[in-house]
Amino acid sequence: MIDRVAPRAISSLQNETVKLIRSLDMRKARRETGLFVAEGASVLLTARDCGWAPRMLVSGPDAPASTAFAALRAWAAASAADHLDVTAAVLEKIAAKENPQSLIGVFEQRWAALPVVDTDQARQSVWVALEEIRDPGNLGTIIRTADAAGVAGIILVGNTCDPYSREAVRASMGSVFAVPIARADHAGFVTTARSWPGDVVGTHLRGTRDYREANYDRPVLLVMGNEGAGLSDALSEVCNELVRIPMIGRLDSLNLAVATALMLFEIQRPILRSSRA
Ligand code: SAM
Repeated sequence: MIDRVAPRAISSLQNETVKLIRSLDMRKARRETGLFVAEGASVLLTARDCGWAPRMLVSGPDAPASTAFAALRAWAAASAADHLDVTAAVLEKIAAKENPQSLIGVFEQRWAALPVVDTDQARQSVWVALEEIRDPGNLGTIIRTADAAGVAGIILVGNTCDPYSREAVRASMGSVFAVPIARADHAGFVTTARSWPGDVVGTHLRGTRDYREANYDRPVLLVMGNEGAGLSDALSEVCNELVRIPMIGRLDSLNLAVATALMLFEIQRPILRSSRA
């Protein structure tokens, strides 16, 4: 039986657990195992604070210098996680190429159910639907922004990039642990949108209303289009309003994550109050 408290010292790149963690860079392996990787002490502390439990904790030679190390180690032990203490050479292969971290966690993916608006709290909520989002950096940034804006959850519609890819997790800065993420095909999303009791607001370059003039009756379902093709006709039709963010300049649109941020902070404006105000 593995001693779950004492870390396992690992120096071989041929170790099966090391090979498994490396394979999680590939979407196919993430899909088959249901696992994903998150890096860095502050991201792991966010995971802990959001009630997640790691399946594995990997620490490199520099990890003990981190003030968070003891806390994360205790969390891993309490979660009966496998703790691997790896050499610098192994860590180099497991950690990100850019800004590698000496503490890495492996987690089970969580997928939320599509929202059911049946409580007072749910009737006040804001959800964001992202149609066919392709760029994991955009997705991670949107997850982070949704967390900051107090969004109840995100729905990934159709064939989207993976929120549990390393790039999306990194761009979310740990918010992937805080924001429920659901997924739906187009038909499933259309069913949800048609029975939505509040405003279903689409963003479209041909939107007829300035986004600052819409009402946003809660619960709000905000629908954002694909980076290249924009919002499809099928999803535009289920929106009871299409809004546009007015622009000056030569380009026809904003980056998807920027447009989502503008929309969310406008929708949430009535409830967002500066603590210094
Ligand atoms: N060529 C695409 C089109 O025709 O819609 C541009 C897509 S844009 C990069 C990605 C998404 O961001 C859009 O589908 C929309 O949801 C949102 N978006 C970007 N700029 C916008 C704007 N000025 N007004 C409303 N939505 C915008």
